[in-house]
Amino acid sequence: MSLNRRFLLVRRPHGTPVPDDFRLDTGPIPVPAAGSFVVRNHFASLDPAQRGWMSDEPSYMPPIALGDPVRATTVGRVHVSANPAFAPGDWVLGLNALEDFSLVSPGGFTTKIDVSQVPSPSRFLSSFGAVGLTAYFGLLEVGRPEPGETVLVTGAAGAVGSVVGQIAKIKGCRTIGIAGGAAKCRRLREDYGFDEAIDYRGKSAQQLSADIAQAAPGGVNIIFENVGGDILDAGLMNLAARARIILCGLISEYNNPGGHVGARNLWQLIVRRATLHGFLIMDYVPRFAEGGAQVARWMAEGRLRIDEHLESGLENAYTAFMKLFSGGNDGKLVLKIAP
Ligand code: NDP
Repeated sequence: MSLNRRFLLVRRPHGTPVPDDFRLDTGPIPVPAAGSFVVRNHFASLDPAQRGWMSDEPSYMPPIALGDPVRATTVGRVHVSANPAFAPGDWVLGLNALEDFSLVSPGGFTTKIDVSQVPSPSRFLSSFGAVGLTAYFGLLEVGRPEPGETVLVTGAAGAVGSVVGQIAKIKGCRTIGIAGGAAKCRRLREDYGFDEAIDYRGKSAQQLSADIAQAAPGGVNIIFENVGGDILDAGLMNLAARARIILCGLISEYNNPGGHVGARNLWQLIVRRATLHGFLIMDYVPRFAEGGAQVARWMAEGRLRIDEHLESGLENAYTAFMKLFSGGNDGKLVLKIAP
């Protein structure tokens, strides 16, 4: 391949992203200056966080500049290098973009990976990526679950949520998962071991609250929140005393044209002396090796499964990305870029 295809952000989405917010561009493969190297991207992680990076609201990272390719964590091989620490052919994981080739300048986040023991290098974006670590540190460090406690997980059939439920079971908790549709609820019970599964589709916050109350008559001790909106409101009405809420994501609100809606039942935090804790996985980078080793151990023991949903082709980046918002992904969404 002698050209570089790049999936550019050309307009900030207003509400739900539309195809015209992006353009597939073709240009030359970058040439590295001293200290830099070029990666041929093989797989890219598609994450709800990318929707946030497309907006120019204050965040933990600068917004993607208009005209730049959409930022993404990728796995690929060094194509050409002017950096003695990275040789052509090395497999690397790094924060790059949805493009065939990424230029990695000195100081950019990229690390070498050993792909010899994994069924596919994409596993560094799923099983051995941020998914397991988000679940691990969010649940254990912020939630601090005790055996016998009840853990409510929203977005429970998704990449992070499915792992949270399994780790909560490993820690001796009772688990309730909320997901969209009968098929996903079946997967919650059969594939991820949830004790209870609640289908949120077509239900008001009040109906959902009643469903949660039925599944957890004594209230929930921990909520691992991935969704927000009505689903968070319903969870808030079912807190046990001194409950902990791990605010990991608010995906139901990311495409609201008017911005975030906010939780309406925060007064329940007062009633239940509960804690709401914003969580960001980046804060745990220094402890990734520790969390990754434990996640890998549980997987090797057959106690934890992390599913991957593979889509193919940079030209399909938009349709693939939108599956995160329609619920069309079963497992960690990964885009295969190299043929
Ligand atoms: P998922 O694999 O969970 O995919 C997203 C899922 O969200 C969809 O499959 C869909 O499942 C559900 N969803 C989408 N829109 C809605 C909606 N309007 N109402 C209810 N459910 C909806 O993605 P991830 O596991 O990568 O991310 C899960 C959450 O974790 C996100 O909110 C993300 O932003 C957050 N996150 C936060 C991190 C942090 O450091 N704070 C790190 C990583 C992720 P369904 O079919 O059930 O509707």
